[in-house]
Amino acid sequence: MSDLSILVLEDHDFQRTMAVEILRQLGMTRIHEAADAKSALAVIAENKCRVDVVLCDLKMNGMDGVEFLRDLGCKGNEPAVVIVSAVKNDVMQSVARFAGAQNLRVLGCLNKPLRAPELARVLDQYRTPDSGRPAHRRPPVCAQEEIRCALAADQFVPFFQPKVGVSDRRLIGVEALARWNHPQHGILGPGLFIETMERFGLIEDLTFVIVEKSLAWMANWARNGRLPCLSINLSACMLPEHDFPERVEKLCAHHGVAPEKVLFEITESAVTRDVPLFLEVLSRLRLRGFGLSIDDYGTGFSSLDQLNNFPFTELKIDKSFVANIAASQKSRTIVEATLAMAGRLDLGTVVEGVENQAQWDLIASMAPDMVQGYFVAKPMSGEAFGTWSLP
Ligand code: C2E
Ligand code: CA
Ligand code: CA
Repeated sequence: MSDLSILVLEDHDFQRTMAVEILRQLGMTRIHEAADAKSALAVIAENKCRVDVVLCDLKMNGMDGVEFLRDLGCKGNEPAVVIVSAVKNDVMQSVARFAGAQNLRVLGCLNKPLRAPELARVLDQYRTPDSGRPAHRRPPVCAQEEIRCALAADQFVPFFQPKVGVSDRRLIGVEALARWNHPQHGILGPGLFIETMERFGLIEDLTFVIVEKSLAWMANWARNGRLPCLSINLSACMLPEHDFPERVEKLCAHHGVAPEKVLFEITESAVTRDVPLFLEVLSRLRLRGFGLSIDDYGTGFSSLDQLNNFPFTELKIDKSFVANIAASQKSRTIVEATLAMAGRLDLGTVVEGVENQAQWDLIASMAPDMVQGYFVAKPMSGEAFGTWSLP
């Protein structure tokens, strides 16, 4: 860690000197200082021995810390950031999210006065792989042509992730999640192909592959006495297909699966685009007996309006709230209040993204109907699900 090159951006002379002193105590020798944001940007732009990490104050005269982060982002090859401030934690967290959205890597947020052990812990993060960084660390999305060929070669399959009851840990349903069974690279996740498929009009083909294969698995599992509900993800751009309800109804009949066993998950942000069209298609799906789930609840806009106007039967609370639940009273309150509201609206409730015992315990105390997440099981093949049992 001591070989890191660190820039201290702090307009208060005494606090800047303190920060430099603490860095020296931690064994750092490559330390730069800036008393305002403009000089900091200049140091980063000019510095021949590149800056690895910036300790960034937020409240400063002239350009403030948030403006500094905006200017710093999007240039490529910029340093990682540690936010150091006396402002309240929720303000620091929102600045950290902003920086993340600017593609900056935020190692942590620290309250003033700065203390050596906390700073050491945060700087240690610099060497660990960065799982949280968005966009440009993602593997590249695949080319349209390659995806078309894969569709033609029938390389897409559904994987299934169980949804279980909280009170009795009973299996209630499965969510089908698309996977590309790539001849060279093995099983690939939807991050690599869904976006391209949506953009080039291929998502409908994928959806029918997933529906068809999932229904075939439902029939297979039913022969062994296993009858979960099936959730299918629908892209918003598919709903304009007016014959969609009829087509899935026919497929259900063909495989002997009752429409009441099938739910379609739609993200809330999708629904705002063309209200009359959505009302039409969603109503026609409900008329045939299908369930409708509002997915990623809490991450889009005007959710309450949608709950009021669209015929949803289930609400899925987004995993981002669960990820924070142990640390954030705010996230706990949002999840609790949402579950209470959904209960009164007679919606089934699912909390997704439960990864560990601590999260399970907290969520279970809030009594949603179902939980889905790595703590229960990761998505698995249809074959594996056939013999899967609750841990
Ligand atoms: P989603 O609908 O929100 O699905 C949940 C995602 O969270 C899945 O990622 C699942 O593997 C992951 N997940 C489940 N439990 C946990 C957990 O405990 N921790 C964490 N960190 N993640 C968890 P996956 O399979 O990569 O799918 C990503 C997204 O791709 C889905 O998000 C969905 O929006 C889209 N997608 C997947 N299959 C289809 C499909 O057949 N059609 C369409 N239109 N979209 C699909
Ligand atoms: Ca989903
Ligand atoms: Ca989700």
